Amino acid sequence: MKTDTLVLILGDQLDRHSSALAACDKQHDLVVMIESREESTRVWSHKARTGLFLAAMRQHRDWLIDQGFEVAYIGIDQPEAESFDTALRSVVKKSGANRLVMTEAGEFGVEQQITSVCGELGVIVETRPDTHFICSRSEFADWAGSRKTMVMEHFYRHMRKTHDVLMVDGGPAGGEWNFDKLNRKPFGREGPGMLPRIPGFEPDDTTQGALDDVQRLFPDNPGSVSAFSWPVTREQALASLDDFIAQRLPAFGPFQDAMWTGEHTLHHSLLSAAMNLKLLNPREVIDAAVAAADEGHAPLQSVEGFVRQILGWREFVRGVYWKEMPDLVERNELEATGPLPDFYWTGETDMACLRHAIGQTLELGYAHHIQRLMVTGLFSLLLGVRPQAVHEWYLAVYVDAVEWVEAPNTIGMSQFADGGILGSKPYAASGRYIQRMSNYCSECQYAPDKATGTQACPFTTLYWDFLMRHEKRFARHPRAAMQWRSLNRLDKSERTAIKRAATQLRKRLTGESASGKA
Ligand code: FAD
Ligand code: SF4
Repeated sequence: MKTDTLVLILGDQLDRHSSALAACDKQHDLVVMIESREESTRVWSHKARTGLFLAAMRQHRDWLIDQGFEVAYIGIDQPEAESFDTALRSVVKKSGANRLVMTEAGEFGVEQQITSVCGELGVIVETRPDTHFICSRSEFADWAGSRKTMVMEHFYRHMRKTHDVLMVDGGPAGGEWNFDKLNRKPFGREGPGMLPRIPGFEPDDTTQGALDDVQRLFPDNPGSVSAFSWPVTREQALASLDDFIAQRLPAFGPFQDAMWTGEHTLHHSLLSAAMNLKLLNPREVIDAAVAAADEGHAPLQSVEGFVRQILGWREFVRGVYWKEMPDLVERNELEATGPLPDFYWTGETDMACLRHAIGQTLELGYAHHIQRLMVTGLFSLLLGVRPQAVHEWYLAVYVDAVEWVEAPNTIGMSQFADGGILGSKPYAASGRYIQRMSNYCSECQYAPDKATGTQACPFTTLYWDFLMRHEKRFARHPRAAMQWRSLNRLDKSERTAIKRAATQLRKRLTGESASGKA
């Protein structure tokens, strides 16, 4: 179709009310959607992640056509789908368009790429704000600009007040902003008990076609699509939300940080992928949770804990991403230079916690927050892996991985490579933390309280080594000093033995003895 105006819908912009779509004139404009082969090869991508994007995009295409939009859809098999760039050039050329309307891209590099291609082709780009998010990029910049440091807790309270969420008479519902004291419990010896079943969605022909394409085109990519049952349409995403509110929200708060062998999802929502594709709006997710508290279906401690993740963390990391890019992804504050151990791509390791967390990640493309932060992320932090290698891994292996949320969490929160924007001190802990929050250690050959010797837990050895390597930086740090003071418990011979054990461990796991500059 010949047209003046293209309306570009990116793979993570499947919102039926997106600002770009709202501006589309069905009679004259052409909607463009592009499946790019490069997306799955530039950075390795879990088969389920690629399958999810392709399936949800094709479902959205069909919905757009049903609604009467004219759609130019570049499928992954078409020659021009080699890269996003070649596909966009081809559509512009064929349509003769001189204007492109889009919603702000989620990813910095994509926005740059579109501006550059359109600039070369003489196409004017009209970018509209992404109304999916509750806090716009400019609102976040105003909030951040007025303070010395960006603290998530301050941002979260600001958002609660501004949007009147869980507020009563101008104060926080229940008299507290935060119910962490009641939350973050382990399960106890008897485990989580009977857990609600997670709803799965049988792939229809469109979804199955996308999964078959992934198998055919990317057979060597990590992971599998054999257990694929993620929501890929708006209707399925809404059904997932309803199920979470009814079945798992009530116990979400208390057990939000707990882990258990063989139980991959526990009381978590599994809504991140649907939200990141924009099949769900964060406002409707928050409203549904708050309504559950109002109706007495879920306790306030769970509802507040859940709302904090979305109104607080999710909006905060998006604001930080746009404020700190492009150099956020290049940062390496702790100067870590080690390679990522191969077992991150296979799950083959004798450390039970890592075997479980990585195994389920490769199987499903999912692990919950504490598995990501305090198992896989913690281990690479303590080992001293180059943050960019860790970033590539997280971007590849989770179905919900998109750079605006993945990078601040990985580079910032989990690796402290941003120097303290996401968290004021590194999330460093020994194997004892994992022992307290899970049952993994009970089936492991290592002992979480031992830092040296044949039974030494690698987390614990590397934890003490990490404290020693970064002693200068954190010994007088206002928030970290107390943790670093525990080093005083070690005498000289213990320090030497731990350093030696850490060096041997690094050699065994990565073939390198150094982790970078201390
Ligand atoms: P729940 O535990 O049910 O939480 C509810 C929702 O809150 C999530 O769906 C998510 O939208 C939001 N949320 C919770 N924690 C965070 C957070 N720290 N930052 C932003 N949003 C949050 N999340 C992604 O969506 N994509 C990623 O690529 C991603 N990469 C991560 C990498 C690392 C190293 C870490 C530590 C965290 C990462 N997270 C990422 C955040 C979080 O782990 C996931 O959002 C969560 O595990 C998704 O599972 P869920 O939907 O069951 O979440
Ligand atoms: Fe993980 Fe150490 Fe526990 Fe083994 S002993 S499961 S390595 S924390």
